Amino acid sequence: MAKKKRAKPKNCNCVAEVNKSLEKEGSNSRLISSLIFNLTTGEAEVRVKLAMEKADSKKRERIKPLLPNYCPICGKKYRS
Ligand SMILES: [Zn+2]
Repeated sequence: MAKKKRAKPKNCNCVAEVNKSLEKEGSNSRLISSLIFNLTTGEAEVRVKLAMEKADSKKRERIKPLLPNYCPICGKKYRS
């Protein structure tokens, strides 16, 4: 039986587009992003990383990363 090829929804390109427009404006800012690998599908996607801060600045424990399931710029659901 032949495998069915289904068109997968494409991820948005917001991180690259926002960073490009910031660069064009001469801004010294860019989005914090993370490259996520889906071990099941072997696909990689770029997600915006939420900015976090220490609840207790005196503790040496590192900040845990938190990644959203939806793009905070366009609202599209991330695939993996
Ligand atoms: Zn987006």
